[in-house]
Amino acid sequence: MDEYRPVYRFAPSPNGELHLGHAFSALLNHGLARTEGGRFLLRLEDIDRARCSIAYEQAIEDDLGFLGLSWDGPPRRQSEHFGDYRAALDALVDAGLVYPAFLSRSEIRAFAERHFEETGTPWPSDPDGAPLYPGLDRHLPDAERHARIAAGEPHAFRLDMAKALSGLGRLSFIETGAVPDGEAAEIVADPSAWGDVVLARKDVPTSYHLAVVVDDALQGVTHVVRGRDLLAATSVHLVLQALLGLPRPIYHHHNLILGPDGRKLSKSARDTSLGSMRAAGLTAEDIRRMVGLPATAAVAGA
Ligand code: GLU
Repeated sequence: MDEYRPVYRFAPSPNGELHLGHAFSALLNHGLARTEGGRFLLRLEDIDRARCSIAYEQAIEDDLGFLGLSWDGPPRRQSEHFGDYRAALDALVDAGLVYPAFLSRSEIRAFAERHFEETGTPWPSDPDGAPLYPGLDRHLPDAERHARIAAGEPHAFRLDMAKALSGLGRLSFIETGAVPDGEAAEIVADPSAWGDVVLARKDVPTSYHLAVVVDDALQGVTHVVRGRDLLAATSVHLVLQALLGLPRPIYHHHNLILGPDGRKLSKSARDTSLGSMRAAGLTAEDIRRMVGLPATAAVAGA
């Protein structure tokens, strides 16, 4: 049998420049992989074809090189693997767990506002703050669905979360980051907080949730190390892993690097981009120090 080797990955979206938060994530993943004799993979999450570009991809690779990081094998570009996501989506469709959802974002918002005006109670929001999908079209007759799709009506494919959960027991994952002292803890998933999440769009056969789960499995990722802002989304990932029969990695959600205003860094704030810091003459050691890591790696290459 092959010797067990952990597999870590850094999975940025090439839709903007990397900032200090990305540097922290990449350095952590790389450091853990190299310390443990494991693999460090680079995945480019570029399913949003309108916002992603080759220029940003190149900048990501340049920034990682500047930080002294090397990855194992060629980067996996999600846009080159739509067939894999489509196959996973089809399996969920065949299981009767997916429906075409026709409400646009503004229609969902309007529904939530109307609900509040009429009942005095707020319509629930998901952990990212978006109103839950009302599911008005969850049980439309097939003929109507087909007719509306054939007529070109915009739609997304959503998971029928209640139905999906009815066939699954309690889901939990091992978390080694988002716990007070960094000890490993079992976190029980709370997927119903997300409602009927989007699995694919009219023109893109996947969404972030579906692609990340399929790729982590196909790439043999054993440890997912990423920002705390994705902790809640892990609940959705567990559901998809369970439905698709995929292995469940160990998770570590690290602290976010905040800007001077105490807010999460954004890809549009150029002053905190690695490119501009590099241009201003900062070194990789400076960046390590700024994100709270020792100036030099504990092991060669970490
Ligand atoms: N592509 C995501 C991002 O840039 C990260 C996804 C993940 O690590 O699961 O925020």
